[in-house]
Amino acid sequence: MYRVKITSNFSAAHFLRGYQGKCENLHGHNWKVEVLISSDKLDSCGMVVDFGELKKITGKILDELDHKHLNELPYFAQNNPSSENIACHIFNKLKAELRERARLEEVSVWETDNSCASYKETV
Ligand SMILES: [Zn+2]
Repeated sequence: MYRVKITSNFSAAHFLRGYQGKCENLHGHNWKVEVLISSDKLDSCGMVVDFGELKKITGKILDELDHKHLNELPYFAQNNPSSENIACHIFNKLKAELRERARLEEVSVWETDNSCASYKETV
């Protein structure tokens, strides 16, 4: 099996509802996003999906989050904008975009250099 990973970034503000600690107050992060896809076969160029194409699709989704107050977006009005929920949100949007082109394995969201949350579907 072939696996391809790209990383991208976005910056946004959030606060966590129902959380007691520093993150209950409005603050920002520069999130790093890792996208991992896989496929058993390659296209005619020998690729799973062109890195540039995967970055473009991911970038379109991250543009909707970049420089936003995440709590004000409809998805995060329902779901606390934790890194876990951000990873799940990006995963679902990306899966819809990729459709049959490749298997979306996992989306990981780094809130800091040392803290990462991931979302993947169980098979
Ligand atoms: Zn935070």
